[in-house]
Amino acid sequence: MTYSHIIRNSLNIKDENIIFDINDYLCPEETIKDTNYIVYQGTLTYKPKACHHCGAVNQDYSITKHGTKISTIKLGNILFKPALLRLRKQRYMCHECGRTFMAKTSLVNKYCFISNPIKNVVSYELSETQSMKTIAKRVSVSSSTVIRLLESTGETLEPSRFELPEHLSFDEFKSVKEAAGSMSFIFTNSQTHDIIDIVENRQQKELIAYFQRYPYDLRKKVKTVTLDMYSPYLKVIHDCFPNAELIIDRFHIVQHMNRALNRLRIEIMKTVKYTRPRDYSKLKKQWKIILKNVWSVDFEHYFTHRLYDGQVTEKMMVNYLLSIDDQFQWIYDLINDLKWHLSTGNYEEFVNQLERSKERSIKRYVRTTFQTLEKYLDSIENSCTYTLSNGHLEGINNKIKTLKRSGYGYHNFRHLRARILISFKLTEKTEKSNRPLTFEEEKEIEKQRNLKVV
Ligand SMILES: [Zn+2]
Repeated sequence: MTYSHIIRNSLNIKDENIIFDINDYLCPEETIKDTNYIVYQGTLTYKPKACHHCGAVNQDYSITKHGTKISTIKLGNILFKPALLRLRKQRYMCHECGRTFMAKTSLVNKYCFISNPIKNVVSYELSETQSMKTIAKRVSVSSSTVIRLLESTGETLEPSRFELPEHLSFDEFKSVKEAAGSMSFIFTNSQTHDIIDIVENRQQKELIAYFQRYPYDLRKKVKTVTLDMYSPYLKVIHDCFPNAELIIDRFHIVQHMNRALNRLRIEIMKTVKYTRPRDYSKLKKQWKIILKNVWSVDFEHYFTHRLYDGQVTEKMMVNYLLSIDDQFQWIYDLINDLKWHLSTGNYEEFVNQLERSKERSIKRYVRTTFQTLEKYLDSIENSCTYTLSNGHLEGINNKIKTLKRSGYGYHNFRHLRARILISFKLTEKTEKSNRPLTFEEEKEIEKQRNLKVV
């Protein structure tokens, strides 16, 4: 192994045409713009196979050496110190066409002084949650270089206009201030959970124009679109995806019912506030167990609870809370039946239960809740048939939030978009955040989400 070989290996340079001459090799330090650099000296030379301009094959000295040119290349950090390579590049002269050209290397692109390994590191670092300033500091390049690399890497991740999955999920997320209403649109493949694209403006007109960039034949093949209950995208789907069926995310249907249940609890709570203060605090504190699905309420384990006398189970507490008001139990049962039929995908029974809600007179807002469900029955039927949901989008939106926070907010939507695409498309598929969830994880998320009231 030669010295040159050892230096090349230690600098992780793959190009064997770069030679480190031991006589030049002094490794001095140099200060450029207040930064200390370790400086390596190297030479790039080889016998070219053909002319870069006319393509004439190099034989019988048709291409000869024609001087050299020194260029300075950033190598990244070596033991926490930034390093430079002064590379003496060979210039060649072609006698066929009479023009000259420079030796090429995989270390650096033409007209670039930042080596390709640095670029790869920056792209990789961009996929992690950290600010661009931190990356710039870590790799010893300027912030504007990081931003430039962000832009160019983002461009390579542009989604293809010639493929579209059959099952889509729509959602929105809080974006940069400049976006209309500061909300942007995101859509994913609802089977693989991959992000397809994000669109700055989520307004109907813009989205229709956006989707019309996909060929009609492709849009015709979209089978389902999964979305929230109060989605503003109905017209977009109607106009752009003529054959798509709507699926309302099951979680949102459950959430819709939970909201009614929660409001009922609060109203009952208020009526007993001054007459039965102990019941009041029970209703106030134990909102969670009321929203829990009745089939997952624990009836086996006894424990002591400071709001109750003696040993109780979760089930006993729920029963007590429901006994405080006579309408409470009935509506609780009805909503849980609906939740159960929804979770088992039994659409017919769901409709039957919804009919049953008309048997008694109930509070107005509870009635409205059921009427809204009736309005969406077609989509709910699809929710029962397909197992697709928008659960994965919640995880994606959370990651976007942390990305935004790490960058101290983004002013430029293009930068935010590139950052999001990089962090979701460049990271390994095996990572937990990106691979499709297992059945157990999906169930766990569903459980967590069902307890949320917004
Ligand atoms: Zn030539």
